[in-house]
Amino acid sequence: LPGLYIVATPIGNLGDITLRAIETLRGCDGVACEDTRVTGKLLKHLGISKPLWRYDDHSEERDRARLVASMDTRAVVLVSDAGTPLVSDPGFRLVREARAAGIPVTSLPGACAAVVGLTLSGLPNDRFMFAGFLPVKDKARRDILAELAKIETTLVFYETGPRLVKSLAAIAAVCPGRDVSVARELTKLHEDCRTGEPDVLAEHYTQHPPKGEIVLLIGPPVAREASGEDVDTMLREALAGEKA
Ligand code: SAM
Repeated sequence: LPGLYIVATPIGNLGDITLRAIETLRGCDGVACEDTRVTGKLLKHLGISKPLWRYDDHSEERDRARLVASMDTRAVVLVSDAGTPLVSDPGFRLVREARAAGIPVTSLPGACAAVVGLTLSGLPNDRFMFAGFLPVKDKARRDILAELAKIETTLVFYETGPRLVKSLAAIAAVCPGRDVSVARELTKLHEDCRTGEPDVLAEHYTQHPPKGEIVLLIGPPVAREASGEDVDTMLREALAGEKA
């Protein structure tokens, strides 16, 4: 059926694609993608051949309008290089304009590095905030961290290897003592997740420069649940109070 289909693709392990994603790619009229080489490889792996159209949110207004207009009669799939489109990836403008034009839009769920990192980290996740990439410049990075540190939730960021140590050092300065997790190479052969205090992790990754893609997470401030020991102490105190 004509319309716009937002389709999540794997973030490493090629097995992480849904049956519905494959069916939709097989049945569509064309695929709007960030990089035709990256998406071409995925389709080749799936044995699917479709027209590929390069698209990102910086594409010309005219090209976007043409793509949206074509959805009246064509089934267009939107993918990004990896994971869920629109999550720190292009697509927002396309979806907004397709919806405004009354085009049927649907989103097929799948891999998203932020969610995989969150579930793997062991940090509290009853509430969390996804904050995309931290700014590159030192001051801007520190300012945004100071702002976000006031929010009492787990914070989730996308990060790159070369910038990780700087970010950890900034976290150590702005919110020392909070648990931090570094989740690397998710769903891939060398998947790794390490949790600790930010200064300790900064030291570790200075010694071992991290390779690959990274999700960086900061646990909530003092989200300490009562431990077994705390409960024992509370009980003892309560009993002592009764006797007195
Ligand atoms: N839309 C994608 C998603 O849903 O995960 C994210 C796109 S964003 C441009 C790319 C960033 O996602 C990387 O810099 C990294 O922080 C994170 N990322 C993607 N794949 C990852 C993986 N396999 N392991 C860890 N982080 C990953």
